[in-house]
Amino acid sequence: MTKLEEYKKINKELSHLAHAVNLMYWDMQTTAPDGAKERLSESITYFSTEIFKKSTSDEIYKLVCDLSDPIEFDKLDDVMKFDITKAKKDLDEKRRIPADFYEEYVKTTTNSSMIWPKAKQTNDYALYEEPLKKTIEAVKKYQKYKRPDMEVYDSLIDQFEEGMDTATIDRVFGELKEELVPLLEDILSKPQPDHSKFTMFIPAHKQAELCKMLVEYMGMDMNCFAQAETEHPFTTTIAPRDVRITNHYHENDIIQPIFSAIHEGGHAIFEQNVDHKYDDTAGGQINLMGLHESQSRFYENILGRNINFWKPIWPKVLEIIPEFKDITLEEFVREINHVQNSFIRTEADELTYCLHVILRYDIERAIFIDGADVKELPKMWNELMEKYLHITPKTDAEGILQDMHWSDASFGYFPSYLLGSIYDGMFLEAIEKDLGSIDDILAAGDIKKITKWLNENIHQYGSTRTSKEVLDAVCHKELSAQPLIRYFKEKYKKIYG
Ligand SMILES: [Zn+2]
Repeated sequence: MTKLEEYKKINKELSHLAHAVNLMYWDMQTTAPDGAKERLSESITYFSTEIFKKSTSDEIYKLVCDLSDPIEFDKLDDVMKFDITKAKKDLDEKRRIPADFYEEYVKTTTNSSMIWPKAKQTNDYALYEEPLKKTIEAVKKYQKYKRPDMEVYDSLIDQFEEGMDTATIDRVFGELKEELVPLLEDILSKPQPDHSKFTMFIPAHKQAELCKMLVEYMGMDMNCFAQAETEHPFTTTIAPRDVRITNHYHENDIIQPIFSAIHEGGHAIFEQNVDHKYDDTAGGQINLMGLHESQSRFYENILGRNINFWKPIWPKVLEIIPEFKDITLEEFVREINHVQNSFIRTEADELTYCLHVILRYDIERAIFIDGADVKELPKMWNELMEKYLHITPKTDAEGILQDMHWSDASFGYFPSYLLGSIYDGMFLEAIEKDLGSIDDILAAGDIKKITKWLNENIHQYGSTRTSKEVLDAVCHKELSAQPLIRYFKEKYKKIYG
């Protein structure tokens, strides 16, 4: 066997192990009985540790070093060149993490992600405080082992969006804050639509049926797709050709599940359309979360909240949800673009959502840059809510306990959501330049033309181009929040006058 063949063989084995862990994790989140979770979490820890050991072993490291040698490296194709470069960088970092610490790290984060739902359900921050504190300590330690010369928070951001840093985020979030806070105050002073028409009871299975229809309409390959219900909606790629999404159905509020489905559907379409030549290599694993969120949020907001998205499918929506028969399409679109100060990020409208993310970014900065005390976080949360959205949560369940991200150590992830929207403003300009007005394409029922454009310009490359490289190639521009700000102003002028 050549060194390359040997390397590919180990990678394939690692993919199979990851497949098993992903399935166990999916099971833990969806159908596993409560009594089985402790043992399941032990098994996840065991397999994750095995993957870690195998993927950082001397054997694979030596192969990667040999294949990185200029003479050997030159002989590789582009797929393997990208993979080996990435593997070398990752391995150099991972090998700095002691195996016994890693096991402890997985235990700590698995434990906190098991406790978080209980704390949220019982509105008990005190129950979660210690696991959260331990998770933060573990994350700091992990990053310091991994990148001793980098600031922890920069490293966390870079881990989810390669090449991004706090300085750039400060700049673009600053641009947004300056424009959005007054725009929001302006909108809130206008007459608001009547929400009461949308609180009728619609059974979960009907909602699930509608959600399935929507993702299929967007261009999902239904042969490689599944959906289930969890506390917090998410998308996961179990293995190549197996992408799954979850949703949380609210029987008296169908709007949220609809937009969760479109959002997660956008993630899944991205995952499904990565060129299969990248299977079992680094290029196939999309760890650029800002870019990922840009795709989910493009479908959710730029397309899904546009009246023209719904025009061609409205009769079909009424067929599945006859409860909508007394609602006009115009009323529906007004409702899904209803700007209001609310507590829950995942339920927030497109505009205030930006401020929900900026709040979380401020808190993460406080934790990792200013060393804020975990005890103080609920208070800090409530003060920031008051500052940006002029409301104060009555409970921690609708405040700091609402998101799962911190429980599974995904610090640095939140900024990706808003970076995604900022990219979307830029992608919208690029698509309209190439294909013409989005309104016309959607109204004609040609949403799959837009999906095809996204497939060809963004999805197929997987993670082989950073977001900055994508923006260079697709928009020929530097990152700026101005296109998104323009989009918001035009949109809300139409809706709110
Ligand atoms: Zn998302």
